[in-house]
Amino acid sequence: MSIDTMGDWERTNDCGSLRKDDIGREVVLMGWVNRRRDMGRLIFIDLRDRFGLTQIIFDEETDAAAHKEAAILRNEWVIAIRGEVGARLAGQENPELPTGDIEVKVKELKVLNESAIPPFQVDGKIDASENLRLKYRYLELRRPALLKNLVMRHRIALHIRNFLNGKGFLEVETPVLTKSTPEGARDYLVPSRVNKGLFYALPQSPQLFKQLLMMAGFERYFQIVRCFRDEDLRADRQPEFTQVDLEMSFADERRVMDVIEEMMADLFSAVLGLQVPRPFPVLDYTEAMNSYGSDKPDIRFTMELADLTDLLVSSSFKVFNSTIGEGGLVKAVKVEKGASFSRKELDSLDSTVTDSGARGLVWAKIGSEGWQSTVAKHLTPETRHAVEERLGAEEGDLIIFVADRAQQVNEALGNLRIEMAKRLGLIKQGQYSFVWVTRFPLLEYNDEEERFVAVHHPFTAPAEEDVPLLEKQPEEVRARSYDLVLNGTEIGGGSVRVHTLELQNLIFRVLGLREEEMEEKFGFFLKALGYGAPPHAGIALGFDRLVAIMVGTDSIRDVIAFPKTQRATCAVTDAPSKVYKKQLDELGLTLITP
Ligand code: ASP
Repeated sequence: MSIDTMGDWERTNDCGSLRKDDIGREVVLMGWVNRRRDMGRLIFIDLRDRFGLTQIIFDEETDAAAHKEAAILRNEWVIAIRGEVGARLAGQENPELPTGDIEVKVKELKVLNESAIPPFQVDGKIDASENLRLKYRYLELRRPALLKNLVMRHRIALHIRNFLNGKGFLEVETPVLTKSTPEGARDYLVPSRVNKGLFYALPQSPQLFKQLLMMAGFERYFQIVRCFRDEDLRADRQPEFTQVDLEMSFADERRVMDVIEEMMADLFSAVLGLQVPRPFPVLDYTEAMNSYGSDKPDIRFTMELADLTDLLVSSSFKVFNSTIGEGGLVKAVKVEKGASFSRKELDSLDSTVTDSGARGLVWAKIGSEGWQSTVAKHLTPETRHAVEERLGAEEGDLIIFVADRAQQVNEALGNLRIEMAKRLGLIKQGQYSFVWVTRFPLLEYNDEEERFVAVHHPFTAPAEEDVPLLEKQPEEVRARSYDLVLNGTEIGGGSVRVHTLELQNLIFRVLGLREEEMEEKFGFFLKALGYGAPPHAGIALGFDRLVAIMVGTDSIRDVIAFPKTQRATCAVTDAPSKVYKKQLDELGLTLITP
């Protein structure tokens, strides 16, 4: 088989565009053999390109030469054909396919390339393992589903760029070979050849550079930017991921939130045709934890947590009163119409609670004869009534109690409400609920490091009224931070920044940084703060996660062209890989392990 060149053939159409109106036209198509059906005199091929599929047909009677050549074509060969568009025979139309009314009768065929037998069928119903698909990602990307995701990703990025451009934001590229910016994760390091023994870090985010751009007077910056974090790959994380990063001068939390809300509303309407109600609800961190048991609450359904500690403090139920006696809480959720859950179903909820670190749960079904529950006899009718009132519980409902320390109770009931919502089918497909969670604690104590660390990052401003607490009660200080949560997933976070040298120095001191350390790590930044830094604030959105939610997939790998595996490797290229000794020598590096 000889491989043809395209010669002077011009592609007249893509494989997704021909319709009834084109019948009678002579066309040239180019693409891949998606599937071939050999019926003897007639050979049918579904020809595929990025835009779709077109059925082409080789008829031995009308063109014996082309028919003969077509007999040897196999899946994934690349061909060009010249032919005439015709109507499909009555009853042979394919309503599933935009080109399903027509077919192209081939007059001339050029084979542009052969293909080895693919390790899995591109158009296959039987799927290969994820590892195999990742290794041959370029073949998997030929599949329409993945292609569609990446087309959506492109459209979303384009829309965001245009939107931010319209709002006066400048896209500025910041260095990839840089100094480590602490965002709480491990850095990827790059050894320097010219400066042996020294290392660059790949950015965990452009945080300091975007702040420097504000000091430079750029006022509005954005970047759709790759960030790197060397973390253990939990469920759906990638070592390199993309952020929509932005920063604004002379702005506070509301101004940043307004830009993002408008951008999201615009994006959802342009790309998904959905109207997102604005303004987005705002929950204080404490409120979110108390009512939803989570700092990323899914508010597509209510089922809020209620604190019953005051009502149950004097009950004779030991688990409740001993927990309360030790400073713990008893909280509960009401599951509407949940009394019909069987004991077995309720037992299976135990692990949701214990996985969250709480000791266990107690349930009560409200029946026509009163409560069905192990706690019933320990509570007076008045207490039961008061509990029902607080929860708004009625006959047929189920109450689930958890007693433990505040954190465990909130986490357990937070997870439980999601589990119950799933079981009860309360979460509707295609429903999008945004919520802001604001005013996180600024600092938290890290037992390992025996010092306070920043919850967001050390450049986040404290709430003005809490500044006096910074030195004496650092754990009480609230941050001027905000997270954007969509359907129970955090899709972004940002803050108003510290913009005076004095406050930044104070925060570094509270974080336990010694003078030399401050100078060595952030000297350049502290210096810049001293030259007239404007008040500024910003945010970064997780772009991969946003796209994943918008295309309706659970995994960010489905929206990244060449994602890393769970072991942080690139299955296509086999990176990371060994390097030559010469390369190590040039860098002044010696490996301890082979
Ligand atoms: N740099 C932060 C992050 O990557 C976001 C921000 O504060 O703008 O999470």
